[in-house]
Amino acid sequence: MHDHFIIEMLWIKDGNVKVWDVSYEDEQILRADLYTEKRKQKCPSCGNKTKRVHGYRNQMIQGPRLVQGKVTVSLRKRRYACGECGKTFYERLQMIERYQRALTSVQNEALMYAADSSFTTAARWAGISVTRLIRLFDRREMKTPTVLPRAIAIDEFKGDAGGERFQTIIVDVERKEIVDILPDRKVDTIKKYLRSCDTSGVEIVVMDLSKWFKKAVRDVLGDPLIIADRFHFMRQVYWALDEVRRDVQGELDKKSRIHMKRSKKLLWKSHYDLNEEQKLKVEKLLQIDPKLREAYELKNLMEQWFRESDHETASKQLDKCLEALRASNTEGFKRVRKTFMNWRQEILQAFMYPFNNGYIEGVNNTIKVMKRTSYGIKNFERMRNKILWNQEMKMAMGS
Ligand SMILES: [Zn+2]
Repeated sequence: MHDHFIIEMLWIKDGNVKVWDVSYEDEQILRADLYTEKRKQKCPSCGNKTKRVHGYRNQMIQGPRLVQGKVTVSLRKRRYACGECGKTFYERLQMIERYQRALTSVQNEALMYAADSSFTTAARWAGISVTRLIRLFDRREMKTPTVLPRAIAIDEFKGDAGGERFQTIIVDVERKEIVDILPDRKVDTIKKYLRSCDTSGVEIVVMDLSKWFKKAVRDVLGDPLIIADRFHFMRQVYWALDEVRRDVQGELDKKSRIHMKRSKKLLWKSHYDLNEEQKLKVEKLLQIDPKLREAYELKNLMEQWFRESDHETASKQLDKCLEALRASNTEGFKRVRKTFMNWRQEILQAFMYPFNNGYIEGVNNTIKVMKRTSYGIKNFERMRNKILWNQEMKMAMGS
């Protein structure tokens, strides 16, 4: 095997590392014996330059896994002596970091692999221990922007980390990138974060219908344009419909109850997207109880408003919806009406600007997978870094 091929295969960037010998220890282990050429070194304690060799030591280093078997590296490391202060020290190399047992390239690949799989899977794949990989991971600092962009979104997600059920995520809405993740969703935490950043360029904030988020934003940013996230306000409508469905369901006999329960998705489905067969099924369900019919029609009305309005018609059409909601006696829809009246301005802004929190779904999926497959993700910093690392790798891959 050619020497340069070995150096390339091991991703060694040090120009003075050379191949002495390559051999098979057995069928599964390829052994590469490497040595270094003399090079001027800077003394770590006094900064003096030296070329004085003090001695050598052989270090066994773990190389990459191959399809069948693995690579082991034996490195003849050089120890230098400073001519000025007399200190002796090992040469600095990119291929192996101090106190590490695996090649830098192997560690880097394991870290890259851990971006979208569990630490356990990544460690096993690279052939290093899970605790070592997690230690490597925790050592890295994930840098996040301190100058916030023009349009940000604030949202919460259920991360269950650091003793808090919910965490807060800050997103650059226009670039669709996570800006940062905060340990909880308390007003003070959000205010402290916003104060730690340069927020002078922030003009637009997209958020769910949380008055606490609104308070934190108003307290720190003054009077930015606040847009209610469409997913969050429309969700209220579906929840209200579902409350009625469950009420009706509870009054049915067992067989019909199961049928009603299984029809949740069908009732939630947009009436624009129903085929003829589904329309008949829905009609049969609605015949069971007039309350359900009323709720379903209100949902359709809201959906129609949401789908067909633009920034010119949204306000007028919303008034019609609120009027229809006023006639309803169900608690759920009374609540919808109240919310929509309280957040009217922010909701109507959603028709002016095409911003929403769609990214959060992707984040939630990442976290779900992480929770399922990773241990140690209860640690908030680690969870935060893993989400940010996942994003960084995705962007690096251009996807
Ligand atoms: Zn020295």
